[in-house]
Amino acid sequence: MTRRELIKSGGALAIALGIPLPVLSLTKQNHMKNTANFDVIIIGGSYAGLSAAMALGRSLRKVLIIDAGNPCNKQTPHSHNFITQDGEQPAVIAAKAKAQVLKYDTVQFLEDKAISGERSKKGFTIKTGSGAKYSSKKLIFATGIKDIMPKIKGFAECWGISVIHCPYCHGYEFRSQKTAIMANGERAFHLASLVHNLTKKLIILTNGNANFDDTQLSKLNQNGIEIIETEITEMEHQNGQIQNVVFKNGKKISLDALYAGIPFEQHTEIPVTLGCELTEQGYIKVDPFQKTSIKGIYACGDNSSMMRSVANAVYTGNMVGAMVNKELVEEEF
Ligand SMILES: Cc1cc2nc3c(=O)[nH]c(=O)nc-3n(C[C@H](O)[C@H](O)[C@H](O)COP(=O)(O)OP(=O)(O)OC[C@H]3O[C@@H](n4cnc5c(N)ncnc54)[C@H](O)[C@@H]3O)c2cc1C
Repeated sequence: MTRRELIKSGGALAIALGIPLPVLSLTKQNHMKNTANFDVIIIGGSYAGLSAAMALGRSLRKVLIIDAGNPCNKQTPHSHNFITQDGEQPAVIAAKAKAQVLKYDTVQFLEDKAISGERSKKGFTIKTGSGAKYSSKKLIFATGIKDIMPKIKGFAECWGISVIHCPYCHGYEFRSQKTAIMANGERAFHLASLVHNLTKKLIILTNGNANFDDTQLSKLNQNGIEIIETEITEMEHQNGQIQNVVFKNGKKISLDALYAGIPFEQHTEIPVTLGCELTEQGYIKVDPFQKTSIKGIYACGDNSSMMRSVANAVYTGNMVGAMVNKELVEEEF
């Protein structure tokens, strides 16, 4: 392997082999100020973006990945339910993916934030936080979503550690333990049916007036799931491991885990400013091939799907890579 290949591996391989890296890695190309014509710009370089880049790199496409380095699962100690990587640290999975993708010569990775985008004659131009502009024929958004933390003391510190979003990702680790669902209505009911399969020590915290119909109430009652409506003020914890939920009336209940359905927003306005439609829930609207409502723009991963998982991000990214290459091939051939 040449020195250049080592650097392009994202450093992971060099570190593993004990080879010192140069001060400026090619993965950190913030010096790259000139407008370059890429086939594809991918905004977001986590699982979805890297998966798209792999299919495109293997198709000899000139690709620029722009990534701000802020994936949604960064606080989670271990990622689960993605085959071959079960229990691995999220950043390790991403680093392996990045090293493999950057082995393809036509793919570049830029640590920066895309701040605006416009259409150009031949495609799109993206401006980054460091003031550089890049243009491409096609655009892929793999930007994830931003979780909006409720204003409950201790919640953000526990997020991804003992306050979790998904039974498939972390439910097994908390099986048979004292668990709460902090949600209301249909969402809480659906989660309750899933989580009840993993633990019977289950309650629902609606953090305000409960909103269930009679059938739901009777099912919850039948399964021994209590509902507490009192407002929550704090989650007492130790290094992110929840100990107690504290209510406005001063009462406390002890817990091992809490599932929370919290709101989200898109990380960036760029898709909307370029004309991409959003769904009612706030996802980027895509067809089954991940095409947005604007020709030449695709989206993959969490920003356009309710199925929030590493596997889904990788799958939709892979699909986007193939679809974008197909579109380019059809234009060129
Ligand atoms: C707390 C938590 C724990 C989870 N645990 C699991 C688990 O155990 N197993 C599992 O399968 N799934 C898990 N998930 C879900 C999984 O992490 C996501 O589905 C997955 O990370 C989505 O990948 P993505 O590439 O779409 O987005 P992300 O991984 O969120 O990455 C988006 C990337 O885009 C970048 N970006 C955004 N806007 C811009 C911009 N304007 N310019 C440049 N870059 C930008 C961000 O900085 C980030 O690097 C978890 C999620 C959370 C929140």
